Amino acid sequence: MIRRPLELSAALLSGGALGAWLGESSWTALWAAWLGAVVWVLLDNLRARRVLEWLKTGESSRSPDVSAVWGEVVEQARRGLRAMDRKARKSEARLEEFLAAIQASPNGVVLLDKTGAIEWCNLTAAEHLGFDPKRDLRQYVRNLVRDPVFAAYLKGNSFKQGVEIDGRNATPSHPQRISIHIHPYGKNRKLLLTRDVTALQLAEAMRRDFVANVSHEIRTPLTVVSGFIETLLNLELSEEERRRYLTLMGQQADRMQHLVADLLTLSRLEGSPVPGSSEWVSCDDLLRQVLEEAQALSVVLTEGQPHAIAADAATEEAMQVAGSRSELHSALSNLMGNAVRYTPPGGRITAGWRVAQDGGAEFFVQDTGPGIAAEHLPRLTERFYRVDRSRSRETGGTGLGLAIVKHVAQRHGGQMRVQSQLGLGSTFSLSLPPARVLLD
Ligand code: ADP
Repeated sequence: MIRRPLELSAALLSGGALGAWLGESSWTALWAAWLGAVVWVLLDNLRARRVLEWLKTGESSRSPDVSAVWGEVVEQARRGLRAMDRKARKSEARLEEFLAAIQASPNGVVLLDKTGAIEWCNLTAAEHLGFDPKRDLRQYVRNLVRDPVFAAYLKGNSFKQGVEIDGRNATPSHPQRISIHIHPYGKNRKLLLTRDVTALQLAEAMRRDFVANVSHEIRTPLTVVSGFIETLLNLELSEEERRRYLTLMGQQADRMQHLVADLLTLSRLEGSPVPGSSEWVSCDDLLRQVLEEAQALSVVLTEGQPHAIAADAATEEAMQVAGSRSELHSALSNLMGNAVRYTPPGGRITAGWRVAQDGGAEFFVQDTGPGIAAEHLPRLTERFYRVDRSRSRETGGTGLGLAIVKHVAQRHGGQMRVQSQLGLGSTFSLSLPPARVLLD
């Protein structure tokens, strides 16, 4: 700081000295000293101007080369600018990270300004609501989302609850439901959150259907049983009638028992860990067991005209598969049971194991039954879906058999397939991946 007065004094003195040397009167020296001071002030102003102009550019890297106090001002300002640069870069990086985190969110996020225009939105929201995340910035959300439910919601200004609308890609065969919830924040700004609730709604619909189906399946036999109980209690019946009623009651009780057993199997399959690869099951043993069970069932169901049930001539006898014996048995006996139950008496049923094209194992059951029309095939594994409802009921079907087979196949990394033509019989197969197969 001392430098400026020193510089000014030096300018005055050198002006005065120059004046004294050039002229004789002391006035000349005084004028020359004043001129020296003016020159210094002008030079100082020039330096101040350069500093000011540089400050206006705000570039910390290209600072002017000035001396004395202005040099110090420049140095301090440069440090300040650099610190600000660093801070701004840090904030920018943090903002980038923050936005990247919101981008990664499975939920859609839209920031609306006080007029309802889009300030920012992530890709998920753009996908849900059909925005273009760049082109639609500054557009009014009310102009872009035309659903009347959303329009009323936005207009109503009551955002305690959200609303649901059809997603941009929704079609009758592929429904998509998007939940939208607006949260006001700051000064009249709004945070709009979107979520794809299609799977949730489907699961909820499935749960409702499932409960309704189970109730319906149980209600019918229960009504029959309670009707018979009332009859037995109130009417004088002959021994033969009593026996007939009790037999019918027994059949209904069996039906409920089967249903409960299948429901328990399904819930076990859903709730237990996937079978490991340490237990090896002999395919031949399993085949023989389910063939015997099928023959016994055929005798009961066909009353003297049993099916011709046999192992396929080319079945792989030495094959072993890794998985849960009880689950595989349950799946195979469901497939065999269906063949017996749906094939008319005297029909032919062939079952066996073969090596699939990919090197995996495939269990198959071929029957000469009624076959299944193509439109039913994709729905066969739905719970309680039946093609021939009355035949299913008559033969003790629960409508859950193929759902169990599909679950078992999936839990073993395999698949269930059906090939069928109306009137020409069906072939059901369950395939397991090569990793679960051992061929001796
Ligand atoms: P269900 O207990 O009614 O047999 P499933 O889930 O095992 O239930 O089978 C679903 C439906 O698929 C059955 O109701 C039946 O109409 C049809 N189905 C299954 N297997 C056969 C088959 N081998 N031949 C003809 N139809 C079959």
